[in-house]
Amino acid sequence: MPQIKNYMEEVVFLVIKEILTDINVCTCDKCVLDIAAIALNDLQPKYIVTEKGELYSRINALKQQFEVDIISAITKAAVLVKRHPRHTD
Ligand SMILES: [Zn+2]
Repeated sequence: MPQIKNYMEEVVFLVIKEILTDINVCTCDKCVLDIAAIALNDLQPKYIVTEKGELYSRINALKQQFEVDIISAITKAAVLVKRHPRHTD
């Protein structure tokens, strides 16, 4: 079954934990999702119709093409969430 995917979203989730660890920001599920949502609102969505299996190579191509934008969007979002974290502990 082909499906429609925003592969910008796939790339963000692929790299987000590594970036957050590098810049010392909380990586709990709540913070990761908050940061991903803010970053994805800043990034251009990239919709593709894909069959299972071909996604990975496309994700890698997109990652290389937009890495700088993605890292800067995630970093900016992380600063906001770090200032006002919504996790409870
Ligand atoms: Zn957190």
